[in-house]
Amino acid sequence: MKMKSNEISSGAVTGPEDATSNSSNNLHSFSHNPLEEKEALLAAIVNSSEDAIISKTLQGIITSWNTAATFMFQYTESEAVGKHISLIIPHDRLSEETVIIENIRKGNKIKNFETIRVAKDGTFRHISLTVSPITNKQGIIIGASKIARDISYRIKSEEKQATLAAIINSSEDAIIGKSLEGIITSWNYAAARLFGYTEQEVIGKHISLIIPKDRMNEETMIMENITNGNKIDHFETVRIAKDGSEINISVTISPIKNAIGQIVGASKSARDISLRIQTEKTQKLYTERLQELNKYKDEFMVMASHELKTPLTVILANLQLLQLMLENDTNVHFLNKTLKQVYKLNDLITNLLDVSKIQTGKLVLDRSEFDINLLIMEVTDNLQKTTKDHKITFVNNNSEILIHADRDRIEQVIINILVNAIKYMPEPGEILLQCSQSADEVLISITDKGIGIPEQYLQDIFQRFYRVSGAASSFAGSGIGLYISAEIIKTHKGKIWAESDLGKGSVFYISIPVGAK
Ligand code: ADP
Repeated sequence: MKMKSNEISSGAVTGPEDATSNSSNNLHSFSHNPLEEKEALLAAIVNSSEDAIISKTLQGIITSWNTAATFMFQYTESEAVGKHISLIIPHDRLSEETVIIENIRKGNKIKNFETIRVAKDGTFRHISLTVSPITNKQGIIIGASKIARDISYRIKSEEKQATLAAIINSSEDAIIGKSLEGIITSWNYAAARLFGYTEQEVIGKHISLIIPKDRMNEETMIMENITNGNKIDHFETVRIAKDGSEINISVTISPIKNAIGQIVGASKSARDISLRIQTEKTQKLYTERLQELNKYKDEFMVMASHELKTPLTVILANLQLLQLMLENDTNVHFLNKTLKQVYKLNDLITNLLDVSKIQTGKLVLDRSEFDINLLIMEVTDNLQKTTKDHKITFVNNNSEILIHADRDRIEQVIINILVNAIKYMPEPGEILLQCSQSADEVLISITDKGIGIPEQYLQDIFQRFYRVSGAASSFAGSGIGLYISAEIIKTHKGKIWAESDLGKGSVFYISIPVGAK
């Protein structure tokens, strides 16, 4: 056991003739008649003490045990008296007793020795011990009196404080304490790291040390809030480091209250947000630049598509005319082949023009009332003529379903999906169309038995220029059709989605509000 020098001092308690004389009345029973009153008073004082008071012989046998000792160590007086003091000493601290007794024998007093003792239920007590020798009338040391004060609460609060200090010092955020007058009272490692001042350099200084001149009024505002008991959350501002550099920080400031609830200062935790601010600035610049480039691209697409469309329309018209004139000519198949390619080019340019319209918000609907069943029937008949391998079936009960929408645009959507159904179904098979009506919408479904779409791409296929990789990419396409279709349906305030079983086929659904009649 190590004892600090101030823990041991000379001095003795004058005790009874024989401290080993066992008694159930503590010090009381050591006395003789003339001192009876004084002893009774002493016994009362001992028993009303908050501190455990125990006496023992030089051999360590307990001779008295007060009420507080019972409270502290859970042994009753009769359980403890007569037992060896090791009853309450943890095994690893038994050597302490030898040192204590050695000192007592020399007439030394042990003062405020902090140690641990064990109670009856095995739990430990942090105590501060004061042990004094007991002498008999002849001045011979015959035992020791031991006063034990429970310091568990103090130890706990010290532990708590140490834990808090460790947390504060290991925090990534700068944590600063200051008085109501703005004087810095604490400064953790992160604060030192962030602002460049050591703890010693700033404690006692005014917080204005790190506030830019043009932001001094912030401190007044902050302290006004703190004095009124308000917390300030995530206040973004700028502070100055020791080297003069500006730091963007986000601060949270809370009032510090004393034990009786008075506000005595403020604790401030500051997080460096310079990186975030910088990233935001760069991101903003990029976004602006991107928007600018996008605008140029949109303008170019509109211009290019228009400029391409005009000559193409003339070529197409002339070729169609030529086709009529050369109907019986043996070389007409050359013309037909050329026309097929021109139709493709025409479709592509029309689509690109649509994309431009969508991008520039110029997709305008030309609504009218029409029978959607009739429209699907026409589209089905027309597309059936383009394929021999696929049987396109429209399940229709011949009833009329009137909707108020843009007929050409809805036709464009159905054609897009039906053309895809044919294209992505290389084996012969059936394509099924259905249309049903509920109170305020019509639901069209187009089912194919083609290659299908992997689950994870079912959302992406409606994005601009998106094409599924893998098997699907061997089919020619531009990834525009479904994007335009989705935008058309969105403009009608309807919905479009797909379900698919990879390798077995897909179902595309379109739901369109019936619209105003
Ligand atoms: P594309 O011109 O490439 O066909 P779309 O926008 O019409 O462009 O379709 C986007 C992608 O969605 C296609 O590239 C294809 O991968 C997939 N897709 C569309 N319809 C079907 C379908 N019926 N079966 C399988 N995949 C399809």
